[in-house]
Amino acid sequence: MKIQKNHLVLLSLFIISLLLNFFIFKEDSRLPHVSTFTILLITFLLTVSKNRLKKLIGLFILFLINIKVIYSLNFNGNITISVLHSILETNINETIFMLGSLFLKLILPAFILTTFLFYLITKINKNLENTPLIFHSILLFTALSIILTILDIKDEHRLISNIREDKKELGFFFQHKVPLVFGDMVYLLISSYDNSKYSNTAEIEKFNSSIISKKDNNNKNIILIMGEASLYSRYSTYGYHLNTTYHMTKLFSTDNSCIINNVHSSAPITRDSVSMTLAFHTPESNENLFNNKSIIEMAKANGYKTYWLGSQEIQGLHGSKYGFIAQKSDEIKLTNYNDNKLANLLAKVLSDSAQKRFIVIHLYGNHMPYNNYDELDKKALPKAEKYDLTIHHTDRIINDIFNVINEKKIDFNLIYTSDHGEVVNVGHGLEKGRDQYLIPFMYNSTNPNYDCQFIEYFRNKDGFLSGLMNKYILSELLGYEIDKNILRKERQYDRVLTANEDILPFSLIK
Ligand SMILES: [Zn+2]
Repeated sequence: MKIQKNHLVLLSLFIISLLLNFFIFKEDSRLPHVSTFTILLITFLLTVSKNRLKKLIGLFILFLINIKVIYSLNFNGNITISVLHSILETNINETIFMLGSLFLKLILPAFILTTFLFYLITKINKNLENTPLIFHSILLFTALSIILTILDIKDEHRLISNIREDKKELGFFFQHKVPLVFGDMVYLLISSYDNSKYSNTAEIEKFNSSIISKKDNNNKNIILIMGEASLYSRYSTYGYHLNTTYHMTKLFSTDNSCIINNVHSSAPITRDSVSMTLAFHTPESNENLFNNKSIIEMAKANGYKTYWLGSQEIQGLHGSKYGFIAQKSDEIKLTNYNDNKLANLLAKVLSDSAQKRFIVIHLYGNHMPYNNYDELDKKALPKAEKYDLTIHHTDRIINDIFNVINEKKIDFNLIYTSDHGEVVNVGHGLEKGRDQYLIPFMYNSTNPNYDCQFIEYFRNKDGFLSGLMNKYILSELLGYEIDKNILRKERQYDRVLTANEDILPFSLIK
């Protein structure tokens, strides 16, 4: 008799679990199904327990489950990350106010439902705890949940490295995969521990060991334009059949400029590549990011005023790592993903009274979903793919920037490159794809002592110029002398940091 009743309880819990996942949480994959069922089962067992504390805990979980279910019914959707954030970020007064306004809609119904369910559960059975069947199913489902969690973590693209970058990613994972309360709790718990590794903006004193001495080399305005997800082979400058970059071809074909061939980035994702351009950490270790002066701090130490003109965020999962460096700039101006505003910002910057300037211009460029273009680009290349239109648009942005520079009649050294390439229509940060590393590099200098030969010096024995050389190129432009032995060793070891955080010789990248 008892076994049959247990079976019935398990079956009802299973059905409730399926209904919750399908209709309330709209999750339909292995881990959410197992986790919802396991949590319902545990809650049930706690609620029917004779131990008062267990019963109380069971009731509390039941109450939270009901809040979550009623919330979803009321607002026609699951509790989102931003709702959880507002719980964390609002102060006590606001929380009380919020709860007050939600009392009739959320809290009271949840309370009534909990009381009713408690009554029902007690009615069904007073003595189900510790019977072998239920005990064994709990063991089984817990084990299954753990296995499925591991499988799901292995499936999720780059989850481990994302978690290492930002612990909140683990919270996102659980919030999504364990929809029944527990995932939200894990998210709140993890998020409340602030991700503080990039928050220290104090000046770093120590120079990298490769920096020997400092001098004035008469470079007045050093401008680094960092493109985004830009594949060199889609530039007409590099031989693409559509005329995507006619401005750049012209701007970088003058006597004091060059279009560099065979260039690859140090990594296929923004945060690693941009940060390794502007600081001295390596694919092997992040240590120097925190211990050595960044390029921006070095610029300041040699009398440059520093500027960060960015179209992308300098915070969050993708931005914090280079944001840590960007934040050291004297002036930071962000356009909120609008490259069209950058030339005007530059015009303002070049009108100030600074004698020497180091300016980073960080584009939104050619990032997915490839919507960074307008009617003029479409008119110019009516049959082109969207990705090519974003390249055409970026070409116009670079032209606008040069118009500003020419108007101001300044001396300058300008680099245009990209944080990484793109497997067009697929993306970047992928396990495979050489195209996600292949980038443009163009250079224009009014100082004949720093001409194209100067750039060529950094090319390695395989014939490539690596993004890992950017920091040395910039150091020399900023007036620092580099230890030739250290440079030679770094230059010859041509490796990249892959999306899975492996270190591979670039020659092995397929
Ligand atoms: Zn990027």
